[in-house]
Amino acid sequence: MVSQAMQDYLKAIYKLQREGVPVSTSVLANYLNVSPASVTSMCKKLADLNLLEYEPYQGVRFSKAGEKLALEIVRHHRLLELYLAEALNVPWDKVHEEAEKLEHVLSEDLEDRIAAVLGNPQFDPHGAPIPTRSGDVFQPQSEPLINMGVGDKLVVVEVDDEDAALLRYLGEMSLYPGTNLILLARAPFDGPLTLQVGNNQYDLGYQAAKSIMVAPTK
Ligand SMILES: [Zn+2]
Repeated sequence: MVSQAMQDYLKAIYKLQREGVPVSTSVLANYLNVSPASVTSMCKKLADLNLLEYEPYQGVRFSKAGEKLALEIVRHHRLLELYLAEALNVPWDKVHEEAEKLEHVLSEDLEDRIAAVLGNPQFDPHGAPIPTRSGDVFQPQSEPLINMGVGDKLVVVEVDDEDAALLRYLGEMSLYPGTNLILLARAPFDGPLTLQVGNNQYDLGYQAAKSIMVAPTK
């Protein structure tokens, strides 16, 4: 039996791996805001279920079964976010919190129906790819906005989905996936970035800019 907490661990490991972070006990503890001791004990349980390969003092790695299950939960989460946004008009800063709860109880039948109603979508409202039923993930090329140069013409690919206040802030500037922008200026020492979005100019704080992934437009 894989509990809700176990599913959250698998999802966290998936997310950290995607970001290229070596997933150690302390990284996980920090990310999940729990003690290293509870991470250790949970990772042992997950290893006993053959979902993780876990060596004390080393990182954790998914087994095949563990990765499959993580992708399943991520698929639930992202499909639910899109369904809530599109079918129920839930604002993009609220869908994550709702999906965090519903992802654990979604049946396979309902998952299939939601995917069908949405036309088997590829991306969630924050631009994150929705894994297919068979566990394939199409991750588009993107780079952090903070790495881009002045004058670059860009399109928003993905934004971090976890901070509702940040999403509201980005929404006020229409910084949704698919929005075009030009990086007009950037202040030194991690200062704000000046963006042209449509007819508007905005100064975007560096911390907020860190949560945006972009790609050059052709
Ligand atoms: Zn989310």
